[in-house]
Amino acid sequence: MKEIVEVAVGLPVSKTFPYLIPEKMRESIQIGMRVLVPFKGRKVTGFIIGLLNEAPKELEGKLREVEELLDEAPLLSLEMLRFYKWISDYYLYPLGEVIKTGLPPGLHLKSELILSLTAESKNSLIQGSLEPVQEKIFKEIERRGKVSLKKILRRFPKEVSKSQLFSWKKDGLIHIDVGIVGEEVKPKFEKIVHYQGGDLDQPLSKKQSEILEWVKMKKDVSYSELSKTFKSPLRALQNLQARGLLSISIKEVSRDQSVQPGLKAYPKPELTPDQEKVLSEILKGIRSRRFSPFLIHGVTGSGKTEIYLRAIEEVLAQEREAIVLVPEISLTPQLLSRFKDRFGENLALLHSGLGRGERYDQWRKVWRGEVKIVLGARSAIFAPFKNLGIIIVDEEHDPSYKQEEKLKYHARDLSVVRAKHSEATLLLGSATPSLESFHNAEKGRFHLLTLPERIEGRPLPHVELVDMRKEEGLLSEGLRRALQKNFEEKKQSLLFLNRRGFANFILCPECGFTFKCPNCSVTLTYHLRERSLQCHYCDYRTKAPGDCPTCKGHRLQGIGIGTERLEQEVKKIFPSIEVGRMDRDTTFRRRSHLQILKKLESGGIDILVGTQMIVKGHDFPNVTFVGVVSADTSLHFPDFRSGERTFQLLTQVAGRAGRGEDLGEVIIQTFNPDHYSIVKAKDHDFIGFYQEEIQFRKALEYPPFSRLINFRLVGNSEKRTRAMAEEMGRIGKDLLKKYGKGIEILGPSMAPFSKMRGKFRWQMLVKGKSSPWLHQFAKDLASRFKTQAKGVGVELDIDVDPVFIL
Ligand SMILES: [Zn+2]
Ligand SMILES: [Zn+2]
Repeated sequence: MKEIVEVAVGLPVSKTFPYLIPEKMRESIQIGMRVLVPFKGRKVTGFIIGLLNEAPKELEGKLREVEELLDEAPLLSLEMLRFYKWISDYYLYPLGEVIKTGLPPGLHLKSELILSLTAESKNSLIQGSLEPVQEKIFKEIERRGKVSLKKILRRFPKEVSKSQLFSWKKDGLIHIDVGIVGEEVKPKFEKIVHYQGGDLDQPLSKKQSEILEWVKMKKDVSYSELSKTFKSPLRALQNLQARGLLSISIKEVSRDQSVQPGLKAYPKPELTPDQEKVLSEILKGIRSRRFSPFLIHGVTGSGKTEIYLRAIEEVLAQEREAIVLVPEISLTPQLLSRFKDRFGENLALLHSGLGRGERYDQWRKVWRGEVKIVLGARSAIFAPFKNLGIIIVDEEHDPSYKQEEKLKYHARDLSVVRAKHSEATLLLGSATPSLESFHNAEKGRFHLLTLPERIEGRPLPHVELVDMRKEEGLLSEGLRRALQKNFEEKKQSLLFLNRRGFANFILCPECGFTFKCPNCSVTLTYHLRERSLQCHYCDYRTKAPGDCPTCKGHRLQGIGIGTERLEQEVKKIFPSIEVGRMDRDTTFRRRSHLQILKKLESGGIDILVGTQMIVKGHDFPNVTFVGVVSADTSLHFPDFRSGERTFQLLTQVAGRAGRGEDLGEVIIQTFNPDHYSIVKAKDHDFIGFYQEEIQFRKALEYPPFSRLINFRLVGNSEKRTRAMAEEMGRIGKDLLKKYGKGIEILGPSMAPFSKMRGKFRWQMLVKGKSSPWLHQFAKDLASRFKTQAKGVGVELDIDVDPVFIL
């Protein structure tokens, strides 16, 4: 029997560690379970990733024991473990932290300092002999029995400090111990009442017979529902149970989901010949039970969703499972209710909009094999299915598939890897495929399928460009006229502007002063409603002053417009029209964006102004006009993908128009009417755009003709961050002697946003023709650099295949 486990702890350490298995655990311990292990004076959660026969030589006799086994069954299958190991290796990220990212929150215990009251202070509390502050805090500790020190400091930030707490410990008033606090999310159980029936030997009371009848009607009903209908039913229930008329059992239940669709029937449509053709190719792939990757290039409104649904039906018929990824914002009630209509309860939802408990429950449903389909945002790629048949990535080009914090994975790329590991079918779908995916299709790595037409032969919207160099004001003559006309015809319009707030920044025309964020190297955005200046990166807020703080001038001006100002302008021009706005400011409350969409659907909004939130996933037949106020915002981004991003955005926005019976109209305002991203979007010409863009990428050897890794350094001290960046540059240059021409280094240089959230940022981009070679270089660089950077307070943050390089 094995005596040693290899454990990956959920901490930023690059190694895994062996631990001894205590006698009593040897029978039950398995790979994939969680354990609590001692680590640097603490107890932390780790994941068992292997069983060993013997300890590594140098550690013999020094191994410590596993403290506790946290699971009865493995949370991770061997297949998932293989997937996590691949991710850890590819993204150069610690395995334990990768696994942590893939699991729902609330499964990660660690030891903390725990407070409890001594007998003496309990006594004083009763006698009332404490000072007011002490009394307040001791009462809180007593109420909770045991509470973590952190929690008390968070709860009473002004009243008490850490050193104060330790001095109370010295005085014998409180205990401070190392222990585990229960922040773990646990399954939720509920009592279920079942109707049993049978003979009545004695007459029932009125209440008893009412309850019995009611349960009989419902067959099975939860106790909580029952107690909502009947006042204090417990005694009557116990009596009925004792007489064998009802039975009560305990069942694990799911907490509520935040998106509850209105149930609507979606009749299964006839497929168009194009859809038939595409589907039959996909079905061949699914039936082969081999890794079969497809890219569906289908114009907006071409019926991709129906193809997804049919493909899933086939996968279910094979008793395999399906993961469907959609961009975060596309998780609309419309999409969800379409899935529910087709698949009923055989569906779990995984996305960050769910509460901790909800997410945990959804995850457990998948893990226990109760559902066969997962629908979710990027993190749904970690759904713990054991027999995966298909992964679908809708809007595969969408940048929200990239996680920008901590583990910087790209869910579309991971879906390729996972489908390969599972011998599953992969469906990437988009009206504007990413250059990488389309290039893969050209090279034959993905099988390309096209849907060139909208369903029911609906034409694509007519798009017109307006040259803003010849116009005055915010809304051109043509755009105003179109809005007016659309309103008169009782149709709805969308107005798109990819910038929120009132004014981009505030300028003093007398001395040139602008307001900058004290934490970030950006200007502050003016928000009119709150009369505040805000940083859109770190959320710093301050009151907007009336005068220039430098020269005391009175003529502060807002420069550049955001959605808040646009909304105001539109209201001014069309006082009798109902105008709504959808952006981060109007949707910060949970479900509020659903309310705005509902209002639009019911006709309560004539013109909806919004950021890219309005671009995705919605399908409103009465929206026939779309205006793009400025096509240039994303074009001038300091990033090699800005042209691609602009083309995608414009095509997607325009695609919102004319989804119903009527032809859609689109007006795009721009100062760059000749730029190919804009011209090709106007003509709905993806292939034309692709051909221009791919030339540019090739000439500059950008992806897909190379791979990129961004090494970013982040530190509190400007001087030290810069010094470390120079050091990193030296190490990089030195390594080039070994790696030669296949690797190119750009920088180090200050990052485009050189200060964010109070931290200084430098970066070094490394380009490589071959991915394995580049990774080898990156590992060498990281390990040599880490020894240099130890203890200087500068952190290395590695971004493999960065989506946007900021
Ligand atoms: Zn001034
Ligand atoms: Zn800021």
